[in-house]
Amino acid sequence: QVQDEKESMFLVSKFASEWFEKQLKTEDGRAIAYSYFKERGFTDDTINYFKLGYNPDVWSAFTDAAIKAGYKLEFLEKTGLTIVKESINGGEQKKFDRFKGRVMFPIRSMSGRVLGFGGRILVNDKKAAKYLNSPQSPIYDKSKVLYGIYEAKQTIAKEDVCYLVEGYTDVIQLYQAGIKNVVSSSGTALTKEQIRLIQRLTKNITVLYDGDAAGLRAAIRGTDLILEAGMNVRVCTFPEGEDPDSFAKKHTTQEIQEFLDSNAVDFIRFKSNLLKNEAAGDPIKKAEMIRDIVSSISKIPDAISREIYVRESAAILEIGEDVLFSSLAQNRNASV
Ligand code: ATP
Ligand code: MN
Ligand code: MN
Ligand code: MN
Repeated sequence: QVQDEKESMFLVSKFASEWFEKQLKTEDGRAIAYSYFKERGFTDDTINYFKLGYNPDVWSAFTDAAIKAGYKLEFLEKTGLTIVKESINGGEQKKFDRFKGRVMFPIRSMSGRVLGFGGRILVNDKKAAKYLNSPQSPIYDKSKVLYGIYEAKQTIAKEDVCYLVEGYTDVIQLYQAGIKNVVSSSGTALTKEQIRLIQRLTKNITVLYDGDAAGLRAAIRGTDLILEAGMNVRVCTFPEGEDPDSFAKKHTTQEIQEFLDSNAVDFIRFKSNLLKNEAAGDPIKKAEMIRDIVSSISKIPDAISREIYVRESAAILEIGEDVLFSSLAQNRNASV
């Protein structure tokens, strides 16, 4: 029963993805959505490879097409592609396309099935959310998917490193530029389940976050979970005002790879330096900072790695190693 429901939802999602792709080829779709992708610098190959699409700016264009093709409203609603509103005064129920007027980014599972969508408005507008995602459903759990994992998995294993970015377009633009081992958690902090997906392919993650304050916070948030999984984490920050998408657009594959190679720094080293600058000359902040860094180090499962990090952080923070070691011992006792 439950399996039947999920199967029906997968079928609806597949139909939707293919239908959205086709809309890029209609007259309106070409003028509005295909041209939008072109302006962002995406080639036809890229658009096809990522199966990008368009949900027309008409109330229920998609929903009507799906029902006409024999898909049940029940599953259109369960996948969140259609929003059904019962009318207040007993009239007919109304159906709307959730992603009306948005360009569509299908989100696929490790094995390539369409699970859900991200949809972007075409013109930045303070009133509408820039991105809208499929709601949680039996087939789409945002904490368990990674955008790009299907497209990137082979290269992640081959290069033995996974780049983690914030957004859909960062994945796509880097991929097009030749950096193909990239996934995105779509604007949220990485979860344990997402880390497990990556861990099947590599032990190494490099976090590439936007060159803005939000990007920096996001780079630090959630990283302890990656350490806890026993993975090696590096961080690479982009120049102010740039994200991987805008950066990749301006540079050759070789330039991007060189930038990544020379700017990716070990996470503990990165965090130690960042905290050191923030706490400069303030003893209270400095104490807080020591606890903060110790807390990160304590998450690392391997004792030898922990010891190496303690020595390195002590040097960066200009404090005695013994202080860090005893704080670490306390921390690990408390958390075991
Ligand atoms: P673009 O280049 O298309 O403007 P971006 O990926 O650079 O988008 P950011 O503002 O850097 O967008 O946000 C990073 C990610 O966070 C997005 O790709 C998206 O997954 C998510 N996000 C951004 N804005 C929203 C929103 N209003 N609602 C939900 N998710 C969002
Ligand atoms: Mn940003
Ligand atoms: Mn961005
Ligand atoms: Mn961007």
